[in-house]
Amino acid sequence: MKKKAISQIEQQHAHDLATIVSQPAVIHGQPAEHLDDEPAADSLPLFQAVAPSVGVVEEEVLAVESHILSEDEMEVGEPIEEGHLPHDCVPDVEVIASAESDREEDAEGGDFDTNEHTDKESDSDSDEEQSLCQFLVDWNSRHRITREAMKDLLSALRANGHPELPLDPRTLLHTNVNYDVEERCGGSYVYLSLTKSLQSALSKVRNVDINCNTELHLQFNIDGLPVFNSSTQCLWPILCRVVKPFTSPVCVVALYSGRKKPNSFNDFLQPFVVDMSLVLRNGVKISTDVTCRVRIHSFVCDAPARADVKQTKHVNFRQGCDKCTVEGIYTKERRMTFNDITSAKRHDTDFDLPLDPEQYRRQDCVLRELQVGMISQFPIDYMHLTLLGLVRRMARDWQDGILHSKSFPFHVRRATISMLQASVVNYSVKMPREFQRQCRAINECDSWKATEARQFLLYLGPVILKDVLDEKMYEHFKLLSIAIRCLCSEELLDGYLHSASSWLDQFVNQYVKYYGNKSVYSVHAHCHLADDARMFGVLDNFSGFPFESFLGSLKGMVNKSYQVVQQVVRRLSERELSDNFPEDRTILKHQHKCGPEIKGRPDLLQYGSACIGRTHISSDKKDLRDCCFMVCDHVCIVRNILAADQSGELCVVYSIYDKVEPFFHIPVNSQEVGIHSVSDLSDEVFFSTFDNRWRKCARLPQDDDHAVVIQLLHEV
Ligand SMILES: [Zn+2]
Repeated sequence: MKKKAISQIEQQHAHDLATIVSQPAVIHGQPAEHLDDEPAADSLPLFQAVAPSVGVVEEEVLAVESHILSEDEMEVGEPIEEGHLPHDCVPDVEVIASAESDREEDAEGGDFDTNEHTDKESDSDSDEEQSLCQFLVDWNSRHRITREAMKDLLSALRANGHPELPLDPRTLLHTNVNYDVEERCGGSYVYLSLTKSLQSALSKVRNVDINCNTELHLQFNIDGLPVFNSSTQCLWPILCRVVKPFTSPVCVVALYSGRKKPNSFNDFLQPFVVDMSLVLRNGVKISTDVTCRVRIHSFVCDAPARADVKQTKHVNFRQGCDKCTVEGIYTKERRMTFNDITSAKRHDTDFDLPLDPEQYRRQDCVLRELQVGMISQFPIDYMHLTLLGLVRRMARDWQDGILHSKSFPFHVRRATISMLQASVVNYSVKMPREFQRQCRAINECDSWKATEARQFLLYLGPVILKDVLDEKMYEHFKLLSIAIRCLCSEELLDGYLHSASSWLDQFVNQYVKYYGNKSVYSVHAHCHLADDARMFGVLDNFSGFPFESFLGSLKGMVNKSYQVVQQVVRRLSERELSDNFPEDRTILKHQHKCGPEIKGRPDLLQYGSACIGRTHISSDKKDLRDCCFMVCDHVCIVRNILAADQSGELCVVYSIYDKVEPFFHIPVNSQEVGIHSVSDLSDEVFFSTFDNRWRKCARLPQDDDHAVVIQLLHEV
């Protein structure tokens, strides 16, 4: 055990408790009057700003329907029928002519005083100096500027009217050079204070009241990533984020780098366990007079990392399932398969039993000192299991292997695979802008990212595969697709949890029938997914998505093959000054004067598109991918976007589809889970305030008039 490092952590912890730290304005020292287990409305995560308010939908149906206008009452370019417009406006509206960055104006500085931070500086000079420094800090973080390039820029700026800027980028960026690197578990290791990492992460959270009654639920991620394509050098961080009562950005607690993964995970975790024990006992000091209680929510890892961290057998062993006691069968194709889904479940208390070398546990895990539920608090991450594992495996099987043997009952014809290739490409370009990455063709499925696999499983697959796969095989695919859809949706989870569990059991049981003897762990473990959703809520509450994108950014911080952890620690400290956590706001674009207006409201200006928080909305007749919404059981196409100049009030003019039917009935009426077959778009127009009743939909056209419309889940 590295006593020196642990002793430093204890000292650091005592120091953190005693130190007064500067904190963001959003944190208040006084306890809230009514804060209990339920989060206050204003402390919800930022991404829920457009979340549905189920309780008010029925009441607001009337409000929407009262705005129905006849075709005669509305003409393009002319004001339409006067109506009452509710004033539950969308705040913080910004109107821009283009998507160009507005930060360049900040970079234009005047003549600054040579001496930094003197009291004699005028306020405006000081502000300009600060804005230039902040711009440089943000710009450096956003574009990953090398130190040499930043040094050249600072030198040039100093020679051209900005002598107040430092010559050394480390001074400008407040680079942390005061950290301890030790040799540990076969590589280089840095432990950062959990308290300081959390303070930094919480300083970027806005509109949240944090006080002494706040209990922070922490989620951790432990995973390894290769640093370079051409070497075995890898990075193993311990990452953390707050998931309750609000969501915070991800922060780094510890970093390991070496030629191989840590040679002892207990050794790797030991400093964290010591620090976490103190934080669990004493709370975490957020500001001068605010110390919050802390609780461990969960550990999110992929299956190999779970086995490493928990010191259990890996999934290619007979006892490889970490949720049940099924005995794996090793097949002649050299595959460990798990065919039984009725075996006894594993329990947290199993870890209290003595070790048995032949069984599931290899040795004791140091995390048990934290009273962590070694089964219940290690949920299955559907990003790795379902999306990167099972969906890509199925897509691969449709293209080759046993399914193409004509003796196999559900073989897939090569001609239909060609159709599938074309369909994925055609449809993925019609997906809404919320999908930042288009799904690549199915013959590239091995390199699909998790977001592409999710797009295929939840949106493209149920539509495209209908005419491609054998009917029974298509029904089998839908069991997985609809079950995961229900487990990902806040609205559907409670009502469909039991059904989703049953559909996943059916899917796993029937897998061998449709795909051959390939019921490996990534298939079998789906029978346990609903249990974790029962405990933690929707799958995105415990998925690897937020950590995966952070891991990608960590990788981008490494430029050289030596001193890897040192590079990452320095770049992380530089990012603390930058202010890149996105803020939800409304942006209006493409102002015009040729759309339908509302009579009596000449104050409303017309726009071609808008971005409200993370929702894109458009009235482009030629490109309908951002025009389709559901509001109060109607499927709508947006015709115009109207906004008041000052108040931020936002209205949309829209038409609805007259014919809305289920797209399928098995395993459930598709309309119950937000999938509709629509036709007969009406010429009649309506208008309404754009608010949280509006749900964005993907619209996949079938022909000129028909389309399949799929409601987007909150987390796309
Ligand atoms: Zn199992």
